[in-house]
Amino acid sequence: MTTLTISPKIRPDHLDRLALIYVRQSTPLQVREHTGSAARQYDLAGRARDLGWPTERIQVIDQDQGRSGASSAGRDGFQHLVAQVGLGRAGAVLSLEASRLARSCSDWYRLIEICALTNTLVIDEDGVYDPTVYSDRLLLGFLGTMSEAELHWLRCRLLGGKLEKAREGRLRFRPPTGLVHDAEGRIVFDPDEQVRHAVGLVFDLFEQSTSALAVVRHFAANHLSCPTRLWGGARHAHLVWEPPSHNRVLAILHNPAYAGAYVYGRTKTRSQSLPGEEPRIKGRTRRVRPEDWPFLIPGHHPGYITWDQFQRNQRRLDENRTSPAEDHRGAPREGLALLQGIVRCGRCGRPMTVRFLKDGSIPSYECNSVHSRYAGATCQSMRGDEIDAAVARAFLEAMRPAQLEVSMAAFDRIAARARQLERQWELTLERAGYEAELARRRFVAVDPENRLVARTLEREWNDRLAELERMERDATLRPRLANRLVDPEERRRVLALAQDLSKVWHAPTTLQTDRKQLLSYLIKDVTLSREDTTIRVAIRWQTEACTALEVPRARRVYEMRRTDPMVVARVRALASEHTDRQIAALLDQEGLRSGTEGRFTTEKVQWIRYKHSIKSGCPDGPAACRGGYRGDGRCSVQEAARQLNVNISTIAAWCRAGRLDSIQAVPHGPRWIRLTPEVIAELRRPVRRHWSRRCGA
Ligand SMILES: [Zn+2]
Repeated sequence: MTTLTISPKIRPDHLDRLALIYVRQSTPLQVREHTGSAARQYDLAGRARDLGWPTERIQVIDQDQGRSGASSAGRDGFQHLVAQVGLGRAGAVLSLEASRLARSCSDWYRLIEICALTNTLVIDEDGVYDPTVYSDRLLLGFLGTMSEAELHWLRCRLLGGKLEKAREGRLRFRPPTGLVHDAEGRIVFDPDEQVRHAVGLVFDLFEQSTSALAVVRHFAANHLSCPTRLWGGARHAHLVWEPPSHNRVLAILHNPAYAGAYVYGRTKTRSQSLPGEEPRIKGRTRRVRPEDWPFLIPGHHPGYITWDQFQRNQRRLDENRTSPAEDHRGAPREGLALLQGIVRCGRCGRPMTVRFLKDGSIPSYECNSVHSRYAGATCQSMRGDEIDAAVARAFLEAMRPAQLEVSMAAFDRIAARARQLERQWELTLERAGYEAELARRRFVAVDPENRLVARTLEREWNDRLAELERMERDATLRPRLANRLVDPEERRRVLALAQDLSKVWHAPTTLQTDRKQLLSYLIKDVTLSREDTTIRVAIRWQTEACTALEVPRARRVYEMRRTDPMVVARVRALASEHTDRQIAALLDQEGLRSGTEGRFTTEKVQWIRYKHSIKSGCPDGPAACRGGYRGDGRCSVQEAARQLNVNISTIAAWCRAGRLDSIQAVPHGPRWIRLTPEVIAELRRPVRRHWSRRCGA
């Protein structure tokens, strides 16, 4: 400060306005530890006084202590400063060096431009700059660039060191629960047996059920909890036990650390904001695909599973996804459709979806992705029950040699799983007992006179005892080990049954999910194509071998209701010399059935004639036809009597007298009369009036 001389750049109009002193240190740690730097920055007030500003016009802006200058966002002090400069209230901005004001070029240039507009000086330890002067502007610009570059190099050096450590697997970050750092910084198994067992159980259950959700369900059904070891903070390394969520199980299954691999760069976070913009809460974090992991060291530390098993699990989890766009088959679900997830369209190759017909008892396979995505037509759809049965038959045929092995393995699995659960419970109870005992010992050890502490410890002891009691209660709720293990007698029985896998397959106790799971072990996919009368089923086995089947096509509802062509032909043959009522009676006599499986009626025959354009002789047209006419246009005696408004006996007399054109197929058989409009006009009797009805009214 002693070297300072009053600069000619400072004019009275500058001194009439404020001198703003900007004080900032990047991190709270610097604020706490590097007090010398802060003192130097506050000294700038003295400097402003020396330069001629009166004390009341010197303003120190220090809201931004502990904030990085990488961006103006979140720096209220800097924004206040820019506002003051913009309003023309500041004569000069003082800062220890340019980097204190801004480490981002965009913030810096904006400030310099506003300073130039409002004729504000920029003053640092080395000198006084007037942004309206070209050479000063150039220099200030250069200072800003250097300041940003400095930050960049700093970052590069830090990041470079970090990546170098990661390359060698020495960069330490939080190990997943179940693994811990030992005293030398190596990753080892968690010393807590219960934690190890719980993590191991997740992998074992997944191995058996191949579904993360099934693992969650299993934990929930058995009242088991999953541990999380806290990291950092006051409760560092504490264990929290809670029932695992689906996400928690997925996180465990996706974490390569459990397979003994050191991986750095599993996720990538990209900032969502431009420099200088208000940053969002978090950048967007994306999972990096395993093949793109930048640093992967298999066999870095002991693991719960092998690397092969890890990769298998990833493939399995990938297939379990249900998004229809990709090639995922989805985990086996409880629905009836046996081929859910493995069925493909034989026409276009897309995966087919399942829909349920009627009351949900009949599955139907549909290729509707074109329909649902592009509003196109559904490619093909077909009833699934016959197809399922055919595939199941083929599957059971293929399974025959392996039956015994499968059943033995299943028993071993049931037993192993039951024992694992039992062990997990033992460990849980042991821990609760230990914690209660520990709390008791702490309470006993404290000086009884120290009431404050004693009270707290007593409460803790009580809590632990209550926790232990709850655990024991939960433990009694779980299914007994003996119930979960299969006793030898039952084992023999089931084994005998297993000799005939088809019985087990069809047993009502066998779950549909189990059937699908079994199926997926052997079958990769099934391709369906609908032909005229059959459905071609192509089974691709896991071995890439193919089996082709043909299943007769189930008739569609409208096909089932459609009238038999034979019936139509018969109606056509009968139509010219019979009325509709007669045709219905004849068809019934001949044992024919209508499309809806019922007897024929006049209306049904009329419909068939109308539908198949079989000529009716009725002059009233099909809508008003009462069925008294034959196809050749002749009508019955009754119909003639109705039309001419006379008795039937009069009609018979007229026929005999030749006044009406009639034919008789057999003597004494029914007469068929041709009524022309002229005949009707000549012979029709006027309608008699109904006196009685009028009087009654
Ligand atoms: Zn298709």
